[in-house]
Amino acid sequence: MDEEFDFENRIISPSHRDEDAESDNTLRPRTLREYIGQEKAKENLEIMIGAAKLRGEPLDHLLFYGPPGLGKTTLSMIIAQEMGVNLHITAGPAIEKKGDLTALLANLAEGDVLFIDEIHRLPRQMEEILYPAMEDYAIDIMIGTGPAAHSIHLTLAHFTLIGATTRAGQLSTPLRDRFGVQMRLELYTPEELSTIVRRSASILDVPITEQAALELASRSRGTPRIANRLLKRARDYAQVRGNGRIDLRMAQECLAMMEIDELGLDPTDRKMLETIVRFYGGGPVGMAALAATVGEEAVTLEDVCEPYLLQIGFLARTLRGRVVTRLGYEHLGIPYPEKLRAEQPGAGGVPDEQISFSESYAEDSED
Ligand code: ADP
Repeated sequence: MDEEFDFENRIISPSHRDEDAESDNTLRPRTLREYIGQEKAKENLEIMIGAAKLRGEPLDHLLFYGPPGLGKTTLSMIIAQEMGVNLHITAGPAIEKKGDLTALLANLAEGDVLFIDEIHRLPRQMEEILYPAMEDYAIDIMIGTGPAAHSIHLTLAHFTLIGATTRAGQLSTPLRDRFGVQMRLELYTPEELSTIVRRSASILDVPITEQAALELASRSRGTPRIANRLLKRARDYAQVRGNGRIDLRMAQECLAMMEIDELGLDPTDRKMLETIVRFYGGGPVGMAALAATVGEEAVTLEDVCEPYLLQIGFLARTLRGRVVTRLGYEHLGIPYPEKLRAEQPGAGGVPDEQISFSESYAEDSED
């Protein structure tokens, strides 16, 4: 990676950036009907919400997992809205003291939704408070210190905890098991993203052709947050270099300027693939070693680059590490070495699907 390359600020990083504030407020769908894609999750939620409302009960605790920018926060807002309850938003790393969490829980009203983003980063002592809170809607608080210390039992309102995480495997088993429902959000198809781009363009009042919307969508790595960001860049470009209307040529020129290739890969993705090919003979290589060679945090490569490279079949995860596939070689324009055939999934390697959930995450933490 270039020394000056600012990874966190790369345009296709799915993580939240300041420039997203506008999209987050104006472009977020407000109802399940407006929420595009994730049909399986939506259908499940529709039934859960309908049933909970009929019974007059709060929703079961729910865990969303999947890469950043796919709509976990948005879905939680929609759930609270459809249930007609208050939403309280916090994040795992923001809860530092037991008192913070106790106060949050004690202030919840009947049926309220507590959304904890990045719940895998919640300190373990906090998890222990959550167990009885989630299971029995009660917590024990210690008052005072020394011989005068005593605990009081506090009954909580029946609330719904929604946890969101990019790494379900890093959640402790007791915490994971306390979520009645666990939903994985999938990367979006270009067609779904194109619908999202057109919806956003109409909210922002930017004229865009269908072809241009599909072009931006195809280069958004399956992620709505990136699609909205590319749309806003293309809007600026078309205003300055054109007449304000985003057509295919404007979209392509803007994407070329940002060095985003026809599949949505940016220089960092290509660097990751090239490093595996050039330094590790195509793999397998463990994430820690790879991150050190690329000069990036393992967690960033795993959360930002890897999900999409896996999805488009350029990268495969085996029990022995990551390998670049024949498709990945072809994209880089490097001939695929015949000796690698035996290493590739389906020909001796163990494809990701055959690694159980916990094994696959065990591999992450070991290497
Ligand atoms: P996450 O919590 O998974 O990181 P967010 O819920 O913050 O992602 O979504 C990022 C942005 O993408 C939101 O501001 C919203 O505008 C857009 N978005 C996400 N999912 C959808 C969807 N299904 N339909 C339309 N826009 C979406």
